[in-house]
Amino acid sequence: MAAQVATLSPDLCDGIRRQLGAWYDDLKRDLPWRRTGDPYAVWVSEVMLQQTQVKTVIPYYHRFMTLFPDVQHLARANDMTILKVWEGLGYYTRARNLHRAAQQIVKVSGGEIPSQWDDLRQLPGVGDYIAAAVLSIAHRQPYAVVDGNVKRVLARLLLMAVPVNQASGHKAYQAMADQLLDHSNPGRHNQAMMELGAVICTPKTPSCGQCPVHSFCEARRTRQTHCYPTRTRRAGVPHKQLVAGVVLKNGRFLLTQRPGEGLLAGLWEFPGGLLGVDEDSAAACASRIEETTGLKVRVERHIAAVRHAYTHFKIHMELFVCVWQQGRVRLNGPAAFRWVSVAQLESYPLHKAVHKALPALRHHLTRFKVK
Ligand code: SF4
Repeated sequence: MAAQVATLSPDLCDGIRRQLGAWYDDLKRDLPWRRTGDPYAVWVSEVMLQQTQVKTVIPYYHRFMTLFPDVQHLARANDMTILKVWEGLGYYTRARNLHRAAQQIVKVSGGEIPSQWDDLRQLPGVGDYIAAAVLSIAHRQPYAVVDGNVKRVLARLLLMAVPVNQASGHKAYQAMADQLLDHSNPGRHNQAMMELGAVICTPKTPSCGQCPVHSFCEARRTRQTHCYPTRTRRAGVPHKQLVAGVVLKNGRFLLTQRPGEGLLAGLWEFPGGLLGVDEDSAAACASRIEETTGLKVRVERHIAAVRHAYTHFKIHMELFVCVWQQGRVRLNGPAAFRWVSVAQLESYPLHKAVHKALPALRHHLTRFKVK
């Protein structure tokens, strides 16, 4: 059922815009990407900020902009360098899409980022949110952004009952954000809405006493701030049991690269796979390695058990040291492989569970005389 969208009064919209804009001008946080109107910097920062907190993003943003200061540098970079800079930030598809989009921009326009909605929207990874952010902040075009922070502010301010985590409800929030948008300064207005959600109208304990729009807020007036926003219940996070092996051969060990699309796309890991129900983990490790790489290995010893929670699933990985017995690598699943030394390991973009296993790995590899 389509959500009903109310029409906001011009007085209400004007009042909110005025108070919000003045508050933002006075009290906004000094963030590196706010010191520039460069569309590339805005784009990179907004991509990094999706699903990620500001304090986490800042060092990544600095490193990224130092290595790839413009579209041309990013387009020329290789995948592995970009993933290495992105390592730990998560949602790796974002980095791959930025890279592909930069290459497309250089090819089509010599490096000039599109300033029209339709042109920008057709770039890899550019959805409504990124397009609205770049065009409003860098080009003062009247597009309203809607992210989690904006939805929370709107839900409380206007007492919107549409669940914020329901895809079908997004249109209702977008329609309200469009009505409220300050066309005289859309970039400032969008950033102010996001800033309000990030620092004042926070998820658990909103600081209504310091809020610039408290006099307009329906949730505050009716003492219901704790009831908004609403959410639909989600099914539990899936749990995967994995086995993986550090396969040794001639003083090197095997790394495989995940496929270019899907979960943890393009990152490197130790070969392995899912552990079946009632399967012995050591035997499963040897089987998964043979299935995915074609190598026969002898499982030498168990070296670590790693737990990690990614955004959409949790894993429990049993890691073994294995010794190559026979066969040449024939990949079935992974995109690429390398035989590497311990020192070389640092230059590969690895996913979090592999990072967690590294202390145990280093300890055991010295026993196997792997350098
Ligand atoms: S008054 Fe409170 S609940 Fe309402 S928008 Fe401001 S911080 Fe959020």
